[in-house]
Amino acid sequence: MAITFFMDGKEIKTEEGKTLIEVARENGINIPSVCVHEATKANALCRICVVEVEGQRVLQPACIVKAANNMKVQTRSGKVLRARRTILEMLASTIDLSDAPEIQNMMAEYGASFNRFPDAKRRESEIQDDNPMYIRDYSKCLLCWRCVQVCADDAQYTFAINFSGRGFETQVGTFFDRAIPETSCVLCGQCVAVCPTGALKPKREFLLEQGLSPQDIGVLNSGRKKRK
Ligand code: SF4
Repeated sequence: MAITFFMDGKEIKTEEGKTLIEVARENGINIPSVCVHEATKANALCRICVVEVEGQRVLQPACIVKAANNMKVQTRSGKVLRARRTILEMLASTIDLSDAPEIQNMMAEYGASFNRFPDAKRRESEIQDDNPMYIRDYSKCLLCWRCVQVCADDAQYTFAINFSGRGFETQVGTFFDRAIPETSCVLCGQCVAVCPTGALKPKREFLLEQGLSPQDIGVLNSGRKKRK
């Protein structure tokens, strides 16, 4: 069924059932998001996409709220911009965003400070290097869930990783904290491809960043093959 609603004062006609972020993007209106990816189902985790909907008490996540007839939506009101800026500042206060250019760009666009919460506890963890294909550095993980979704029923149906822990201790991990080779992981690399922060990184890229040359890496790999 066709519906008409208003986004930033612009009258938009669309089909019932589409989310606000889908309609916005179809109409050239940029609503930012971190957890939404074309390969994964939207699930309103990061909340960067919040918008103001007339008549609603709290800001609404545009990735899951559907456009409705006569709805009036503001995507860049003062309240929206402040919320996005604060979410980005909270992320920057706890997570290493040095490998997340997309989010750094958002920080600049929204005037977010990396030092807004200088006393915040940082989410730090050891780099996990337990398989030949990729490393996991969860001090860079903002829990967008993209990797978990592509590993599960959005793509691969492997179910090797999931969330573990609760609250501040929540982290992506394997069942019983097993090393990757001891899980159902088939090293397809889809989790690495959708990670927006460098928390999951190809092993080769990681080793090059550590100063190894392509030749050094070739020697490492041939040693690994011989040991098998
Ligand atoms: S590892 Fe990457 S893709 Fe997975 S939840 Fe963390 S930031 Fe998202």
